[in-house]
Amino acid sequence: MRALQYTKFNGTISLNEVPDPQLVPNSAIVKIESASICKSDISAWKGVDPHVSVPIIPGHEFYGHVAQKSDEVEIQNGTPVVVPVTCGCGMCGPCKNGQQHICQNPFQPGFTHNGGFAEYVLIPNANQNLVPLPGHLQKHSSALLSCRVACAYHAIMKSHHHDTKSWCLIFGFGVFGMSCLKVAKALGFKTIVIELAHEKLAKAKAMKANHTFHFHTPSLVNLIGEIVKDSLFLSIETSGNLLAIEKSIKTLCETGHHLQLGFISPYNDKAISPQLISTIISKEISFIGSHGVNGADYSSLFSLIHDAEINLDSLVEVQVPMELIPNYFSDFDTNHICGAVMMV
Ligand SMILES: [Zn+2]
Ligand SMILES: [Zn+2]
Repeated sequence: MRALQYTKFNGTISLNEVPDPQLVPNSAIVKIESASICKSDISAWKGVDPHVSVPIIPGHEFYGHVAQKSDEVEIQNGTPVVVPVTCGCGMCGPCKNGQQHICQNPFQPGFTHNGGFAEYVLIPNANQNLVPLPGHLQKHSSALLSCRVACAYHAIMKSHHHDTKSWCLIFGFGVFGMSCLKVAKALGFKTIVIELAHEKLAKAKAMKANHTFHFHTPSLVNLIGEIVKDSLFLSIETSGNLLAIEKSIKTLCETGHHLQLGFISPYNDKAISPQLISTIISKEISFIGSHGVNGADYSSLFSLIHDAEINLDSLVEVQVPMELIPNYFSDFDTNHICGAVMMV
C-alpha cells in the first residue's frame, strides 16, 4: 500500500510503498478515507514523544471504512468508523473499568504503531476501539472525531460545570481550541478566546466567540474579571504554555475548574510557582488533566453535533492528497493556516 513514513526524527517524510497490514486476533483493517494533521503528530515527528520509535507511519486523526476483520469482531465490513486517539488493550485495570482512553498499555496509531497517513491501518482489540459513525457524520471532516473534537468534548464533560449562564475561557486557538469553542457554545457556555496570532483571533470572532483577547493584552486578568463578574468556572488551556496556566488560574472564580489539555514540553525549564499553588488552594480551584476520549463519550457527542448543528467541515482549511501532506508537517509551527490540514 501507499503510506507516508519517516525513518528518523525531524527527517524527511516520504511517500513509500510498504507492506499491507495483516489481521491479528480481534482486529480490523480500516481503509482510510481522510486523515488530518494534529499538533501531537508534529511533536512525535520532532522526537519529543517518548512513545514513538522509527520508522513509523504517522497519523492518529482519521476516518475510514472497515475493510477486513477477524472473526471475533462484531462490526461489519464496510462500516464507516473513527478510532479514538488512545486505544485500549482491553486487559488492564482502566480498560476493564471502561476507561480505555487512559489504558496502561495503549495502542496509539501514529505513535506506538503505524497510523493513518496510509491507505490502510490495523486496529487491534477492534470490538472496543472502533466507533461506528451515524449517517450524518460519514464524511471527510469526521476524521476530527478521532482526536481534537472528541477530546474537547470529553474534557468539557469531565469538568462538571455545565451551568449555561457561565463563561468558558479558552487559551490557544489552534484546531483544538476551535473544537473547544464549538463544543462549549453547543453546551450553552458564553466564550472568551485568548490567543497570540492575530489571524486566529479573527477566526475566533468569525466563529462567534463572545470576546477575544490577545494573550499579551495588559491587565488581561482584570479585563476578563470585569466581563465575567464572578461567573467564570471553566477555563481550558490547549497550548501547554505555563504563563497561560498562570493567567487561567488567576482569572477563574472560586471553585472554578482549570482544564489542562495542552501537554507541556519536556524541555520547558520553567515551573509552576508556589504562589500559583497557593492560589489553587485558597480559591479551591480544581486542576483537571484530560487525555483522549472514551468510546462511551461518542453517542452523546454525536447527538450534540446533530442537535446543535455543529459544522465539522468549517474546521477544515486545507484538503490535499497524500503526497502533499509532508509539506504541512515541516511548516506547521510557522504557517498561518487557521484550521485543519486534511489528507483526502
Ligand atoms: Zn490529536
Ligand atoms: Zn488497557
